[in-house]
Amino acid sequence: MNANGTLLKVKKQLHEAGFKLTPQREATLLVLLENEKDHLSAEEVFFFVKRKSPEIGLATVYRTLEILTDLRVVDKVSFNDGVARYDLRKEGAKHFHHHLLCLECGNIEEIEDDLLGEVEAVVESRYHFIVKDHRLTFHGICSNCQAKHE
Ligand SMILES: [Zn+2]
Ligand SMILES: [Zn+2]
Repeated sequence: MNANGTLLKVKKQLHEAGFKLTPQREATLLVLLENEKDHLSAEEVFFFVKRKSPEIGLATVYRTLEILTDLRVVDKVSFNDGVARYDLRKEGAKHFHHHLLCLECGNIEEIEDDLLGEVEAVVESRYHFIVKDHRLTFHGICSNCQAKHE
């Protein structure tokens, strides 16, 4: 789905939840869409939003990110540095995507394949637990860093 389609869909979600897509919220959402592959912190989102809407305050960005998190438009993640980062949920994704975190360069890659169907089935039957979502980060060495060692 393109940025416009996503924007319309989120607009509808916000509306249904009783919020309006104000220009500041729209600018925040656009920054997330434009940096879809990144995992921006609130401060980084603020930095980019300020270029579009110079009058926006950090509190507004925080609040918008919280609303978008509640609506599950974005997921809050944190990696080794412990900083909360915001990750746009993939269109139609049932579960949160997985991450590959490189321990050498800090690069983060995303895996779209869920791959966890069997694991979830075991968890559900053995622990009588209904799985709604999961978080999975693999820690290791990325292919770029592996190449440097060769
Ligand atoms: Zn991600
Ligand atoms: Zn690396």
